[in-house]
Amino acid sequence: MSDTPVIGVLALQGDVREHLVALAAADAVARPVRRPEELAEVDGLVIPGGESTTISKLAVLFGLMEPLRARVRAGMPVYGTCAGMIMLADKILDPRSGQETLGGIDMIVRRNAFGRQNESFEAAVAIQGIDGDPVEGVFIRAPWVESVGAAAEVLAEHDGHIVAVRQGTALATSFHPELTGDHRVHALFVDMVRANRTAGSL
Ligand code: GLN
Repeated sequence: MSDTPVIGVLALQGDVREHLVALAAADAVARPVRRPEELAEVDGLVIPGGESTTISKLAVLFGLMEPLRARVRAGMPVYGTCAGMIMLADKILDPRSGQETLGGIDMIVRRNAFGRQNESFEAAVAIQGIDGDPVEGVFIRAPWVESVGAAAEVLAEHDGHIVAVRQGTALATSFHPELTGDHRVHALFVDMVRANRTAGSL
């Protein structure tokens, strides 16, 4: 088995290309995933930002919702940014009608939480597990995490609100590290995928 993990980016909607670039920069082989056959071939998956209602509906339409849930349940490493964070939440506080999530992280998220005046902004975010300067967080109509269950670990807060969470092999951030050219969050995820592959092959 080659040491380079193959990581997919769910390519139904959202900023797919930026994640592919960031993953490649963090030493992974990165590929778009649109079909169950493509999902079956990756060691880990990024769920990009975009619009969580649209991603949810397209996942159902493309026959990906159940295969995605099955792989997340089986422990495939997964990283959701913004709308992707919403997809990983076990519960959404204010779902749109027909909106489903994959789940995977025991957390309750609030969509578009930072309010109208603050729809988009940047802020320095210190993330547990990432050394050096804080990461520049780009928040675009971002969710925040209202609360987490015992199994979930809070990695970062902004203004007293939870904006990064990890639970086992699942990682989620409210913000978009793929837009900054700083690949440390993607590198953290690539490390999680590598560790999971090693654990699986022992
Ligand atoms: N507000 C969007 C949603 O609810 C998320 C925005 C984003 O991913 N940048 O899905």
